[in-house]
Amino acid sequence: MNLVFLGPPGAGKGTIASQAKNHYDIPHISTGDLFRNHIKGDTDLGKQVKAILASGDLVPDSITIAMVEQRLKEADAKKGFILDGFPRTIAQADALKEMTSLDAVVNFVLDREEIIKRLSGRRVCKSTGKTYHVVFNPPKVAGIDDETGEALIQRDDDKQDAIENRLNVYEKQTEPLIAYYRSTGLLFDIDASASPEEVMAEMVKVLKK
Ligand code: ADP
Ligand code: AMP
Repeated sequence: MNLVFLGPPGAGKGTIASQAKNHYDIPHISTGDLFRNHIKGDTDLGKQVKAILASGDLVPDSITIAMVEQRLKEADAKKGFILDGFPRTIAQADALKEMTSLDAVVNFVLDREEIIKRLSGRRVCKSTGKTYHVVFNPPKVAGIDDETGEALIQRDDDKQDAIENRLNVYEKQTEPLIAYYRSTGLLFDIDASASPEEVMAEMVKVLKK
């Protein structure tokens, strides 16, 4: 199954992908995670994109498309994939069409107020990428990762100014993809306001059809 998860930052795409990858036995490919791994490893690409990620702007299409093209060539992506956070522009969607076919695009629908609550309360484990929320999905011990015992951090782009910018970037550059994919008949809207368990169950039901 070749899936794209579309929707605003903070809608819960990564949270659902971490369950869906096991359910469908396909890799979860998050372009945000790929960039963050480069930043953590201090690679040339990481150095190039660090400030862009912190501000909430988009990495240039040419860089992002090349990274995804390479990732989709890896053996595990032959059986399918969940692309989370890609495509984010029409140019990226056009490039993806040349790389592979898609079975469905899942559009996570959530209003702005709820998005801001989710993003501002998000905390992550820097070494594993595991995501929590201070209220909606807290760790067992406040501020500490359940598995590694490391201190959780707040992403730079989950701070107030960057959140505002990311939502504007989403509306201008990514939202047009809803109409783009709706016209292909591949788009399925999912109400992302329910609990992760309910969102996951709804998605599985919709994708079975
Ligand atoms: P995205 O990958 O779309 O940016 P995440 O999966 O990282 O979003 O979720 C954003 C924040 O919202 C995280 O802190 C996560 O724990 C929380 N979250 C995700 N799904 C839900 C949900 N269904 N209900 C409440 N909080 C959620
Ligand atoms: P995410 O983890 O999906 O919220 O992405 C974090 C950041 O990585 C974004 O705000 C962008 O700076 C960058 N990024 C992730 N995916 C893309 C993409 N498809 N195109 C451009 N930039 C991206």
